[in-house]
Amino acid sequence: MGKIVVTGGAGYIGSHFADLAARKGNEVVIVDDLRLGHIQAVGDLPLAKGDVGDPEFLDGLFGANKIDAVIHFAAYSQVAESMQNPAKYYQNNVCGGLELLKAMDRHGVEKLVFSSTCAVYGEPDALPITENNAMNPINPYGASKLCFERMAMDLSRSSNLRPVFLRYFNAAGADPEGKLGEDHNPETHLIPLVLRTALGLREAVMIFGDDYPTEDGSCVRDYIHVTDLAHAHLKALEYLDAGGAPDAFNMGGGQGCSVLQVVEAARRVTGVAINARKAPRRSGDPSTLISSSKKAMDILGWRPEFDNIERIIETAWNWMKANPEGYRA
Ligand code: UDP
Repeated sequence: MGKIVVTGGAGYIGSHFADLAARKGNEVVIVDDLRLGHIQAVGDLPLAKGDVGDPEFLDGLFGANKIDAVIHFAAYSQVAESMQNPAKYYQNNVCGGLELLKAMDRHGVEKLVFSSTCAVYGEPDALPITENNAMNPINPYGASKLCFERMAMDLSRSSNLRPVFLRYFNAAGADPEGKLGEDHNPETHLIPLVLRTALGLREAVMIFGDDYPTEDGSCVRDYIHVTDLAHAHLKALEYLDAGGAPDAFNMGGGQGCSVLQVVEAARRVTGVAINARKAPRRSGDPSTLISSSKKAMDILGWRPEFDNIERIIETAWNWMKANPEGYRA
C-alpha cells in the first residue's frame, strides 16, 4: 500500500484526519504551504511544504513517493471573504485544484477524497438536504467547491480517477484528547467566536440576522464534530479500496441548531453568561441547512458519535481553555 497525501493537513479538519489516519497505521504525507495551516498541527508527521496549484512541486512529490490516494482538504473556506474576493476562491480552489487533478492523472493516482460542502446546495429546495437536492450555490465559496466536484467527475469519465465528495455541514469541536483544535486567523466561525467571548477575549458575539424564516429568527445549521468527519474520510478510503465508484455523500448530524441555540448551549457548557448582540445578516448565508446523512450511513457505514451540540462545544471549550491564543501560544 502506498502513502496517503493529505493536502491542507496542517489545517483544522485536515490535521484531525492526518492524525487519525496515522494512528490507524496509514503512511501519511501532509502537503501544506502553511499560509493558513499551523506547523504545530503537523506534529511528527512528514510535511511536504508547497502549493497544490504548483505542478512542479506536485511532480516532485508524486515522482518521489508511491502515492495510493489523495485526501484534498486544502482550500479557502470563508463565505464572507468569498463574496468580497471571489477571484481568490476560483484561483485557489478551482485553478489550484485542477493542477492537483492533472498531477494525479500524470502519476496514475486514482483515489481521491474531496472536502466538499453543503454550500454547494445554496438555499435548499427541500429539507433535510439529500444528495439529490438541487445544487445552486449562493456564494463563490460554494460555487468554487461545486466547480471542483464537476471537474473531478468529468475527469473520472475520461481517466481512472475515482473521486468521493464529502459534503460537510458545519464542522465544529476539537480533538477530544486535546492535541488539536480550531485556529483560524482571523477567526470567523461561530463556535470559536462564542467561546472566545466566554474566555473574555471578546466583548460580545454578533448574531448575524434575527429575521430569518426560522423558529427564533437566527440561522439554523447542522454542526458535525471534526473527529466524526475524520472517521468519515477513512470510511471513504475503505470504500475506494473496495472498488467504489465516484459518488457524493452528505456529512452532518441531521439536527438543526440555531445561532441563538449555539450561544445558549455554550452558556451551559462554560457557565459564563456570554454576551450576544444582534447584527445585520451576513451576505451569502442561507437560512437553514440540515443534512440527511443516510446515504453515508448506508453506503459508507459511517455513524457520527457526537450527537449533541453541548458535547461538541465541550471539546472546543477544553481546547480553547488550554490554548487561548491557538497554536501561537
Ligand atoms: N454567525 C454569527 N455570528 C458570527 C459568526 C457566524 O451569527 O460571529 C452565524 C452565521 O451567519 C451562520 C452560522 O453562524 O449562520 C455559522 O457560521 P460559520 O461562519 O461558523 O460557518 P458557515 O455556516 O459559514 O460554514
